[in-house]
This record gives sequence, structure tokens and C-alpha cells, in this order.
Amino acid sequence: MQQADFGDSRSNWKQREEALLASYAMHSCDAQGREHPEPEHPYRGPFQRDRDRILHASAFRRLSGKMQVFTGDMGDYHRTRLTHTHEVASLARTIGRSLRLNEDLIEAMALLHDIGHPPFGHCGEDVLKECLRDSGGFSHNRFALDLVTRIEQRYTDYPGLNLTFEVLSGQRFRSHKQDSESQMLEIQVVDAADSIAYDSHDLDDALKLGLLEWGQLDGLDLVQRAKRTVRLGDVQPSLRRALLVHTLLDLQMGDFLQHSSRLLGGLGQLRSQEVCKAGVSLGMSSRIEQEKRQLEGFLFEHVYRHPRLVEVRQGAAMRLRQLYRLLVGHPERLPTRVRGWVLDWGIERATGAYLAGMTDRFCDEQYLLLVEMGRPCGVDWS
Ligand code: MG
Repeated sequence: MQQADFGDSRSNWKQREEALLASYAMHSCDAQGREHPEPEHPYRGPFQRDRDRILHASAFRRLSGKMQVFTGDMGDYHRTRLTHTHEVASLARTIGRSLRLNEDLIEAMALLHDIGHPPFGHCGEDVLKECLRDSGGFSHNRFALDLVTRIEQRYTDYPGLNLTFEVLSGQRFRSHKQDSESQMLEIQVVDAADSIAYDSHDLDDALKLGLLEWGQLDGLDLVQRAKRTVRLGDVQPSLRRALLVHTLLDLQMGDFLQHSSRLLGGLGQLRSQEVCKAGVSLGMSSRIEQEKRQLEGFLFEHVYRHPRLVEVRQGAAMRLRQLYRLLVGHPERLPTRVRGWVLDWGIERATGAYLAGMTDRFCDEQYLLLVEMGRPCGVDWS
């Protein structure tokens, strides 16, 4: 059988980065490596490998069963945590390519950014925060780090995915926002794409679910701007929502790119670390930023606090809280692997991590089996 010959594949991805990336991008050759050193891969750069490791992690697949804003029993049109993640990755890569940043690094960080969300979104996070308030609290950003550095088991030599320092640094920054360090440009791009995606798509989903009426949007400056851009009134009703959503995306993406390109144009030959030290902050123009904040305030008031959502959240919070109380008082009912975490983390954090790893459906099922039917032991989700 003929031996695989990767020839100059290794130098190919290095040359490609040198040819395509701006000086201020995070170049793989400047990467700080991994906690457990590994030889270079014959045909993939370090950030490509990280992207693949995250994509193939079981925690990533479980995002398909975790709600973004609306639960699965409300319909099957709206976003899940997984589809949101792919949309963020797509927007972030578009920005990254336009600004000549490291697209592989951006994609890896985008796929990672929501991996630590517990079941039932921010409602689930609030319950775990309350349950763990005397044991260090809970944050989905920190749990993402626990997942990829300790909980995921894919290799024989070390726990976790052994991701590069750079990919982990995005999550670390989100977990410790009080740190004075500046962010890499690639991290800033992922955060901007996340915000652009959820504002536009939460509006889309809420309209589709009938939680919002079109007339309620009249006072929103960003929506009015979109209407002027594409003359929404002339479009047949069945296409109006789709047209509004991609116009909102286009307006925000275009503004972010224009504003950020001007900023980056003045950086000369600065390298990524020097840009961090200089505290460069990418963003939108102040006018669009203001209109975006108005849209966010509207969504908070009229969508996230909608009575239908409040009811769903209250039920989910009750089930999650009861499950926590039952398991923390009866560690023998935790799955074997989770009982092993108790030695390192204590019963409260171990139980919190078990619950945080569940999908919405799995959590409801465990509630039914353990709390209502008295099954002796919970099921491992991995
Ligand atoms: Mg997100």
C-alpha cells in the first residue's frame, strides 16, 4: 500500500497564513501552544485542530438539545443553542476574512463560545447560580472551560481537549471580565458576531412565534433604517420577516466592518500581542450602536419577559431546583462518573456540573425518573 505523502502540507498552511492574514491577526506561528505539548499535525494548523476537537466534542452535539431563548415545545422553527452557534461562526468568519484576521481561530472560538450553557438557557444558569451561591456560583463561561479542560474525555494521555492557549483565552476572558487585559481582535469579532446574531434572530423567532406584532416594531430606529434600505412595505407579506432579518444583519455587519476597517488601517505593522497591549477595541459606529441598544431594550421588555416565556421558565426552574436539591442531599443517586468529581469539586459543584451538562429534554426526563418516580440513580449524559 502506498504511504501517504503529505509533502509540503505543513508549510502550505503556514504560507497561506503569511499570504492572507494581516500583521495584526493572530498568526499560528506566534501561538503559545498547549498545556500538554503535541507535535505539529501534518496537514492542519493548530487552530484548525482546535476547531475540529470542539466540533467533535459530545458537549458540542448536546447544544442541539439546549434552548437559545425558546423551548422545543414552542415549535421547531426557532434557533437552538447549536444553530445559534453555527450562525455566530458564519458571521464571525465573514468579518474575520474581510478584516484579514485568523479565520480558523475565530471559528474555533465561535464554536466554543456557548458550549457551557446549562439546560433552559439563562433561566437554568440563574437556578444554578442560586444553588451554588456558597460554592463559588455558576457561570456558563467558566463551565465551558471545565468541559474542555477536564470533563470531555477523548485522549488517553490527558483530560479535556488540550486546546491551544489562544482558543482558551477567549473563554477565560469571558469568565473574568474584570481583568484589565485587552482582548485579541479575533475574540472581539466573535463577541460582535454573537451580539449581531442574537439580536436579529431573537426578533425573527419572536415574530414567527407570534410573541410580537409588526406594529410594535415601528418605534425601533434600526428597523426603520432597514425599512428605508429595502422598502419592506413593497414586499409580499410572506417574505417580509426574512427580508427584515437579513437586512438587519447586513446593516450591522456592514457598519461593524466599515468602522473597524478604519481603525485597523492605522495599526501599521503591529502584531497581535502589540495590538492587545495598545487596547484596540473594534466596534460599530456610535449611531448604529445606539440603535442596536434600543433594539436590545425592546427585546428585553417585550420578548424575554413575555408571559409565555416567563411561564416556561418558571416550570423549568422549579424542575431544575428540585433535581439539584434531591441529588445534593443524596450523592449515591449521582451516576458513577459524577460521584468521582465530588472528591475534587465537592458535592455542590459536582451536582451543578452534572445538571449543567444536560440537554433540556434529558433534564426533564431525569426529573421525571428521579424526583417523580423515585428511580435510585441518575443516568450519565456522556
Ligand atoms: Mg451566543
